[in-house]
Amino acid sequence: MARSINLAVIPGDGIGPEVVAQGLKVLEAVLPADIKVETTRYDLGAKRWHETGETLTDAELERLRGHDAILLGAIGDPTVPSGVLERGLLLKLRFAFDHYINLRPSRLFPNTASPLAGDPEIDFVVVREGTEGPYVGNGGSMRTGTPAEVATEVSLNTAYGVERVVRDAFERASARPARKLTLVHKNNVLVHAGHLWTRTVERVGREYPDVTTDYLHVDAATIFMVTDPGRFDVIVTDNLFGDILTDLAAAITGGIGLAASGNINPGGEFPSMFEPVHGSAPDIAGTGKADPTATVLSVALLLRHLGHETEAVRIEEAVTADLAERDGTARSTDAIGDALAARVAG
Ligand code: ATP
Ligand code: MG
Repeated sequence: MARSINLAVIPGDGIGPEVVAQGLKVLEAVLPADIKVETTRYDLGAKRWHETGETLTDAELERLRGHDAILLGAIGDPTVPSGVLERGLLLKLRFAFDHYINLRPSRLFPNTASPLAGDPEIDFVVVREGTEGPYVGNGGSMRTGTPAEVATEVSLNTAYGVERVVRDAFERASARPARKLTLVHKNNVLVHAGHLWTRTVERVGREYPDVTTDYLHVDAATIFMVTDPGRFDVIVTDNLFGDILTDLAAAITGGIGLAASGNINPGGEFPSMFEPVHGSAPDIAGTGKADPTATVLSVALLLRHLGHETEAVRIEEAVTADLAERDGTARSTDAIGDALAARVAG
């Protein structure tokens, strides 16, 4: 456990800087006095791209590599063509720092309205593969723009890549009370990749006899996520299915203002990056309406990743308590951050 944290901060666009400021406030408040945080700010995102045409230079990538972890607000702006910042910044970081785990805990907090009927029990974690699948950019288009166009988008799945994410998911499942792992894929149709995933879960699962495993096709998984979310504990899935399932998971747990995520390089060779699931929300930027809770929960994931479990739990308990006391009165971004900082310090 490190006695100091050398943190890179990418506030980004829209509400990004607003929510990140609250995340840092809570981070400072939760750490004991003998653990120092040193933050370095990187001004990346839409403004930078407009001014210089740059998204992330190789020199910046090199400097980012030297940090213990990265906290990101949000990247994206309607004035930047779609894909420029995603590919040039977010995916570049993910591939350069080998963030092969995309971690999304999904929990329905008390006093938080789920769009699902009744009072569902929701407490599961999605472990989404981060560096393979259809996201590798392997494919192309022939006769582009003509009626005879043919486009392919190859989904890459390697034994190495699948095994390491499956192993990570088993580790996480074995550390949770329910000890259950669900593989989500579509192995009746996507037979090549699907069977690799299925075989890998079976094989690695033999090393984890205390973890129960099961399998769902992704279409069935979307149904269960709505009709019986309590059946899930840890879900392991590929990059594309994970992308879709995690948005659904955020929706059923009362929304985007609360969902945290980590792009993780588990071995620590490269810095992992933590960020709220929501985007830059330009519609509410500058109004003080952004809920910083997702960012604060991302800080908890960051601390847990760096070995500061006690502080991570303290933040999660503070969020739970804060949500339990919400009565519908609107509070500003700052006010929520202050309340959470006071709770974790007290
Ligand atoms: P991006 O392309 O950056 O993902 P987006 O518009 O697709 O942006 P979000 O930025 O996540 O998606 O915003 C979706 C909606 O949710 C918006 O109406 C926004 O105001 C709202 N929203 C997003 N984040 C928050 C937050 N932290 N607190 C309150 N509302 C939010
Ligand atoms: Mg979006």
